[in-house]
Amino acid sequence: MKFRFPIVIIDEDFRSENNSGFGIRALAEAFEQEGFEVLGATSYGDLSQFAQQQSRASAFILSIDDEEFSPGPDLDPAVLNLRSFINEVRAKNEEVPIYVYGETKTSRHLPNDILRELHGFIHAFEDTPEFVARHVIREARNYLEGIQPPFFKALIDYAEDGSYSWHCPGHSGGVAFLKSPIGQMYHQFYGENMLRADVCNSVEELGQLLDHNGAIGSSERNAARIFNADHCFFVTNGTSTSNKMVWHHNVAPGDVVIVDRNCHKSILHAIIMTGAIPIFLKPTRNHWGIIGPIQQSEFEPEAIKAKIRANPLLDGVDAEKVNPRILSLTQSTYDGVLYNTEVVKGMLDGYVETLHFDEAWLPHAAFHPFYGTYHAMGRKRGRTKHSVTYATQSVHKLLAGISQASHVLVQDSETTKLDRHLFNESYLMHTSTSPQYSIIASCDVAAAMMEPPGGTALVEESLTEALDFRRAMRKVDEEYGNDWWFQVWGPDALAEDGIGHAKDWELKKTDSEAVESSGEDAWHGFGDMARGFNMLDPIKATIITPGLNIDGRFEESGIPASIVSKYLTEHGVVVEKTGLYSFFIMFTIGITKGRWNTLLAALQQFKDDYDRNQPLWRVMPEFCAKQPRYEHMGLKDLCQYVHQLYAKYDVARLSTEIYLGDHRPAMSPSEAFSHIARRKTERVAINNLEGRVTSSLVTPYPPGIPLLIPGEIFSADIVEYLRFNREFARECPGFETDIHGLLLEVGQHGEVQYFADCIAE
Ligand SMILES: *Cc1c(COP(=O)(O)O)cnc(C)c1O
Repeated sequence: MKFRFPIVIIDEDFRSENNSGFGIRALAEAFEQEGFEVLGATSYGDLSQFAQQQSRASAFILSIDDEEFSPGPDLDPAVLNLRSFINEVRAKNEEVPIYVYGETKTSRHLPNDILRELHGFIHAFEDTPEFVARHVIREARNYLEGIQPPFFKALIDYAEDGSYSWHCPGHSGGVAFLKSPIGQMYHQFYGENMLRADVCNSVEELGQLLDHNGAIGSSERNAARIFNADHCFFVTNGTSTSNKMVWHHNVAPGDVVIVDRNCHKSILHAIIMTGAIPIFLKPTRNHWGIIGPIQQSEFEPEAIKAKIRANPLLDGVDAEKVNPRILSLTQSTYDGVLYNTEVVKGMLDGYVETLHFDEAWLPHAAFHPFYGTYHAMGRKRGRTKHSVTYATQSVHKLLAGISQASHVLVQDSETTKLDRHLFNESYLMHTSTSPQYSIIASCDVAAAMMEPPGGTALVEESLTEALDFRRAMRKVDEEYGNDWWFQVWGPDALAEDGIGHAKDWELKKTDSEAVESSGEDAWHGFGDMARGFNMLDPIKATIITPGLNIDGRFEESGIPASIVSKYLTEHGVVVEKTGLYSFFIMFTIGITKGRWNTLLAALQQFKDDYDRNQPLWRVMPEFCAKQPRYEHMGLKDLCQYVHQLYAKYDVARLSTEIYLGDHRPAMSPSEAFSHIARRKTERVAINNLEGRVTSSLVTPYPPGIPLLIPGEIFSADIVEYLRFNREFARECPGFETDIHGLLLEVGQHGEVQYFADCIAE
């Protein structure tokens, strides 16, 4: 396989018509003769800004004869430049070969801290360029081999091999596509390698995912080491599946389980599948609709026992005798709220058998000391005594995994080891017998990328960019003075520069301890929080639009976030999630300065168009095409129209409080769901829903968190909320809350009716 990893030469004379120039170019030619590309630069400055160029280098040749005058190694500017460049490279990469090239200078001129980092010192004109080139190339090749993690290496070797295959997939390394015009297009789009490397599990040399052996097994062990776990299982169908695997291994019908009410729907699916009886921990919410953490006091075993006693499905069960089977906690909520997992472990170790942290959004935290104990498994952290700890992570959400790349990490306790064989029974139940190998390769590569120091540098960079973005937003705000601007949800005080400390991001009552008792509301709006229990992950940025203040009161005028995000979409910026008066972006390891600066510029443009009330047909043509009724309005008019409707119906309070009510179960989730298979459900119009039992999940978007789960009763509040949504959709089409679980049917006269599936009576 031909990879393009040039040898990078930095020499002031690289393009000069003098002796040094001839010398260094002769070396460059020798590299090219051997089939290596060369990238020549005349200064470090050319290169140090371009991380992508740096990571593409197979070796560096750095010249140190740039200065004629040499006052000694500690003062020589050439040496100082050399040192700072080498430090920069080594901060991310300990392996790439670095050579120093000198004409008059020798290693005697270099201090030890530099010499230690070098693979060699090349004296110009001493050996032939060809000899030097072969030596460097050998090191460069070893380096490129050495960075390949086990599975990806085996896959490259296999795809390179060019053997004819009789095994599936049927496209036979892509050949089938070439026999049709549209197939040709597919082939050209994805490229030959993606298809050559799309093989099935009869290729023995790659190992078996389902058996965790061979190259795949080595990769999983490598990833386990990198992520500080005792076991790692790659999963090719997302964390949705990872969660179900963990549950099926640990939970049996009738078991009591403790679940974050703000959990991903895959956890709810797992409850249904296993037949568990859930006890829910309820998260806080603020008036912007941002979902906060579960209060620390809810994790007290006594508080959990009280809930067990109060649960109608556990009538007659002695709460004192129950050991809940599993706790599943969303570790990093959508908005980036984290728990101190050491505190959770300390409170529940031995009481709950399995501690499961759903870290779909948190695979990066293990690689930067910034996150301290705010993630499940860290280097040099102790084990729990009894309970086994699991973390499930979406490699594809924040690391360099392709869609569906995920893994299950397991940490044994002091007294209980995972039985890998038995865990695999559950693993097999949820894994296709034809796993996608490029997903496996991306699990393998994403893990290898995170190996310190490279991974630490990547996380540091996303933190840095996230903070720079916040500082830039504040600077814009200051410049506007009393005029409005978007706020980024987060602590009042930010570090002047750099990434600051995790302590700054803790959710506590107020930022300053001195005014702690003054009762003043803190920036987060969640009220009184236990110290040292929660923090906000800075790489997730919730941007708050004007219109709603922290107490939930509507301002005179306002800008609903969905209008901003629709506007942004039409201007080439797509955000991750939109709430009522907030939307959300994140700084993954793929962030670029260009991306967030473009967002900032687009927000400026929005403000400008809003302030001038630009006609919608001009600034949001796609939206007008879909919703012509707003065509005659200006941008400001539309914002005000929707804002006033939100205010009239008090939507912010409604959609927050609807989650805070108590949901009473009439039967267990799995029992309710089984009514579907038995065809014992009934489609009920929303006017008649009160008191009925749902057979399905009911989930409003935003925020995408299920409101009801199978077996729960439609309360009067919820029915009122659904009715209100129906009204609102009529008055304000294009801005309604989408509710999954409700069915819409259009009657003979065009009237719209909403239904929900319930247990038949
Ligand atoms: C996205 C998500 C999942 C599911 O992950 P996929 O990889 O998309 O299947 C699970 N839990 C949480 C908290 C998530 O946000």
